[in-house]
Amino acid sequence: MTPKHSAEPRRVAVLSVHTSPLAQPGTGDAGGMNVYVLQTAIQLARRNVEVDIFTRATSSDDPVVQEAAPGVRVRNVAAGPYEGLDKHALPTQLCAFAAGVLREEVRHEPGYYDLVHSHYWLSGQVGWLARDRWGVPLVHTAHTLAAVKNASLADGDTPEPAARRIGEQQVVAEADRLTANTAEEAAQLTSIYGACADNVDVVAPGADLECYRPGDRCAARVALGLDPSETIVTFVGRIQPLKAPDVLLRAAAEVMAREADLPLRVLVVGGPSGTGLERPDSLIELAAALGITARVTFLPPQPPEKLATVYCASDLVAVPSYSESFGLVAIEAQACGTPVVAADVGGLGTAVQDGRTGLLVQGHRIDDWASALQSLLTTPDRLDELSARAPRHAENFSWQHTADGLLDSYRAASAKYLRMSEAGEFSPRSRGLWRLRRKNIQQG
Ligand code: UDP
Repeated sequence: MTPKHSAEPRRVAVLSVHTSPLAQPGTGDAGGMNVYVLQTAIQLARRNVEVDIFTRATSSDDPVVQEAAPGVRVRNVAAGPYEGLDKHALPTQLCAFAAGVLREEVRHEPGYYDLVHSHYWLSGQVGWLARDRWGVPLVHTAHTLAAVKNASLADGDTPEPAARRIGEQQVVAEADRLTANTAEEAAQLTSIYGACADNVDVVAPGADLECYRPGDRCAARVALGLDPSETIVTFVGRIQPLKAPDVLLRAAAEVMAREADLPLRVLVVGGPSGTGLERPDSLIELAAALGITARVTFLPPQPPEKLATVYCASDLVAVPSYSESFGLVAIEAQACGTPVVAADVGGLGTAVQDGRTGLLVQGHRIDDWASALQSLLTTPDRLDELSARAPRHAENFSWQHTADGLLDSYRAASAKYLRMSEAGEFSPRSRGLWRLRRKNIQQG
């Protein structure tokens, strides 16, 4: 197919194979990436870019197509069994998924999509094929990288398989442009995965700043049935070893032991995900073993409006993750005026201003975490200072800003693609062959 002669994308195929942007985040495989895909699609549509998001159907009740917002359609592709497909088996369904994506395009006039944007490596594999088939550029966002994740696993956590690392490497090599959440991730893409630095754009994720806003703490607590006189530290997210909710529970127990008069409560919001701590039950058991059951409250995953109430009700939000490509929860909490104590890993170093809107803690020693929590929770004036600065910092991270960054990246990918094809460097469909030939020439 001949590439279109425009660098301004008007219709984009967004690929999110392994999880739907319409799934409730905070449990299973649904988290920040789902929020990212949906929110950026909404913002792109407001900039007159139509977005079709392709995801794998996980229920026979999923309609073939759903309008998620004006200009944003979610296409549920039948690929494998609806329910019960283990996430490790997802690579076996990529062919079926790719067929569903390619068939959708065939239903329209040639050149229906101007660009493919894939999220996570599984989608990147499908995007690679769609790109070559349609003759349009591929922009890829990894969200997490196996090599980075494996370098900082929680105790007992299962490493990501070598196959994922290989798959990621292929997508990095094939994508016309990559977007990274932070400069650190961009550096990892170049130094570990061999990406060309000129092809990587740093596009920070955001938060829905209309939903996440400072609110009355007492009213928020009453709405949630929490005691307005207690001191509350909160964990929000998928309950899995990587997120380290256990570190928060242990550190909070230590603070309770050090500060007998502090009416401390731990609020844990989220559902099971991944391996190890997959059952919230294991956290309930840990609370019991630590003797703090009566001072821990568990809430199931909450929709955004309710989550805003949770952040407003909290004195502090803790993000003790072992690895975090960005950490949307940290931005959302700060947007609500709640300071954050976070592990100094990945994007959290960008999301939290150490000493100004929260604290960054090195490592996961319980003593260190207890001291960080204690130092803020026992000095309300300091907490108030951090709290006053937090929303201003969060304003730097809006989905509008993210969509602007993505559009710039789309334009750069399209312009490069156009230049290459006009220069006759390859015909998109034979691009793979072209590469192979060049390799043979170099080897010969
Ligand atoms: N989230 C939610 N309800 C919950 C818990 C989490 O909507 O009960 C959302 C939260 O608002 C955030 C996302 O899930 O946008 C988690 O993103 P983050 O980057 O913090 O972690 P990830 O899941 O990507 O590892």
